Amino acid sequence: MKFLCGIETEFGLLIRDPELKGASMIRQEDLFRRVRDHLFRKKGAGLIDLHQRAYDEPPGNGGFLRNGGRLYVDMGHVEYAAPECGTILDLVAMDRAGDFLLSEALEELGLADEVSFIKNNIDHQTLATFGSHENYSVPRSFPFNERGLDPLVVFLATRQIFAGAGRVGASYVNDVILPFPGESPTVPYQISQRADYVVNTFYQWVQMNRSIVNTRDEPLADPLQFRRIHLLLGDSNMSQYALGLKVGTTRLALGLIERGDAPRISLADPVATVRGLSHDLSMEWRVELSNGKTMGAVEIQQAFYEAAERAFRGESDDTDWVLDGWREILSDLSKKDPSLVADRVDWAQKLVLLEDFSREEGVEWDDPWMESLDLAYHDTNPATGLFYPLEEEGVHRRLVSPSAIRQALRDGPVGTRAQGRSLAIRKILENPQIFDYIIQWFGVQVNEGEILYMLDPYRSYRQEVEEYFAHLFRENGPLTGGDLP
Ligand code: ATP
Ligand code: MG
Ligand code: MG
Repeated sequence: MKFLCGIETEFGLLIRDPELKGASMIRQEDLFRRVRDHLFRKKGAGLIDLHQRAYDEPPGNGGFLRNGGRLYVDMGHVEYAAPECGTILDLVAMDRAGDFLLSEALEELGLADEVSFIKNNIDHQTLATFGSHENYSVPRSFPFNERGLDPLVVFLATRQIFAGAGRVGASYVNDVILPFPGESPTVPYQISQRADYVVNTFYQWVQMNRSIVNTRDEPLADPLQFRRIHLLLGDSNMSQYALGLKVGTTRLALGLIERGDAPRISLADPVATVRGLSHDLSMEWRVELSNGKTMGAVEIQQAFYEAAERAFRGESDDTDWVLDGWREILSDLSKKDPSLVADRVDWAQKLVLLEDFSREEGVEWDDPWMESLDLAYHDTNPATGLFYPLEEEGVHRRLVSPSAIRQALRDGPVGTRAQGRSLAIRKILENPQIFDYIIQWFGVQVNEGEILYMLDPYRSYRQEVEEYFAHLFRENGPLTGGDLP
């Protein structure tokens, strides 16, 4: 079973300057534009979209980056899509590179004291939600039907016990999301950011952004061979460890489904399960099954873990790391003490921080201060964010070093087609005479010439890219100093 994954992150904006805070969206847009111009035009961090043709977005709002990922600036948010990664460590480094790129841009623009990009999924005031999309490549033969997806829903609904990023309070949105009968309308704290926003049962597949699996069939690769599983349920993780475990276990769960080896468990009500688990800080996490019985969320995850252990142990270093980490975290979670997993799990880490603060300062959970601290946990500015120091001090485990993250801004991940794309982008940036280019996830076209298709995401296409540009330069003569049309 092969691993290939990319994560898209929509960033929020944390505005410290009270004057800016009152400002309209126009001011925000202006800020986004400055960040975009700085990164793409001045710093040469990537290529701005020059030509609309293949895109469904206004040209000039962003484009592909040196590492093969993509940064796109829209009215409501800034989104970074990590390139396709073939290992967990690559994915963690590439994901973090996006945070770094954006926070550094604000620093260089002299705006870091006023605003930060925050990597979270909610706005306590407006009830807006920002996404964290996970993309996994699976073979076309993946059973993308009710039978196949039932276990995926079970896995995803319970995964939050270690993948959730935690939040203060709850969001009951515009009468759409209301407390269930008997459910308390307020919670001081819950384990997932997105849980309150999941309003559809999974099988309705409503094309609102609140469904769990996006059913659009856009493989971004050879459609005869591949399918891209596009998941919208997850929280953005600050914790590298939680992110690694989340994508690693999810790939194994998908692998079990591919083989027909997933545990046969089915939930009575997936929506209620997602929210019920998120709101249950006792860590009892009882789940109602469709056969009328109940089961613990830890037990459900344990069943997936055991099946994965049997199926995949020894397949690769990554797989073994995931299996070990999964076993440990489930064992620790079963002890029902958040402090035991705070070094690996965002919601637990944040809870410990906030509880300490509440005790020391005598502040209650409904104090607006707690919401501010909640946001500060996700602040991507290393100088003001609450999370990064915990990594520095060794309180929270990390998987990749700051230098690996810095490198991930320059070089694409090795072994996937993002490597070839990254190489192509470097060649374009180094040759200002190239007057026209289109970069897409599945191909590259320069100077309106032939399209170099990259339809297999598991291939690096390095050789092909070298040949493509060598050929181009041969045809056009030396590019330096020449006058191209
Ligand atoms: P939207 O922003 O509307 O959700 P989208 O998800 O279709 O759009 P992008 O924002 O461009 O598209 O992000 C694509 C993501 O999918 C990236 O993170 C990329 O690494 C990943 N990806 C690209 N090709 C594949 C593939 N063949 N299989 C799995 N993931 C892929
Ligand atoms: Mg996207
Ligand atoms: Mg997406």
